[in-house]
Amino acid sequence: MDKRVICLFGPQGSGKGTQAKLLTKKLNIPHISMGDLFRMAIESGTELGRKVKEVINQGDLAPDGTAFNLLKERVSNIDCANGFILDGFPRTLKQAGLLDEYIEVDKVVVIDISNKESIKRLASRRHCLSCGSIYNLYTVPKPKEDEMCDRCHKKLYQRDDDKEEAVAERLKKYHEETEPLIDYYKNKGKNKVAEINGEQSIEKVAEDINEAIE
Ligand code: ZN
Repeated sequence: MDKRVICLFGPQGSGKGTQAKLLTKKLNIPHISMGDLFRMAIESGTELGRKVKEVINQGDLAPDGTAFNLLKERVSNIDCANGFILDGFPRTLKQAGLLDEYIEVDKVVVIDISNKESIKRLASRRHCLSCGSIYNLYTVPKPKEDEMCDRCHKKLYQRDDDKEEAVAERLKKYHEETEPLIDYYKNKGKNKVAEINGEQSIEKVAEDINEAIE
């Protein structure tokens, strides 16, 4: 069996996490989330972890080399022998170059949804402060009564992070960061990048991804 290395891109609300889980099951290779690796490194208290914590606390992106070293360490584990799904790496062209020298990415899957749809999905998220339930006014689970928690009957609350302006800001950052990377991989070969329409059912998106990676 060939080693499968798949990079997954998608903005907030694209269902990237859900699709990563499905893909992990289907291909039987792990989902490597860079965000999780950073968190674990910080919790481990190693020297590398302390370095990561320092930069992230300053509000900066971890340096390309640091991120890459963390990744390399993780994917040298035996569970990655048949490949892995990358989420959150590469984030810069420099990182993409480092990755290329190390291993060949065989497919870049981009889950596309419009900014409008992303905002609609995230801005309709509501939280119950008293029991912690999460609802969506627009998709499932929808509260039975408008803006009220089904369980506690308290008024639901919208996080500042989910407000339209905050989501729009994150989307802008995502597109600025991702578009050069998509072009970079497109230049590597006609079939390197698969752009998937994320504005479909979870099942249909999964089906399109499976077809693209065949
Ligand atoms: Zn509640």
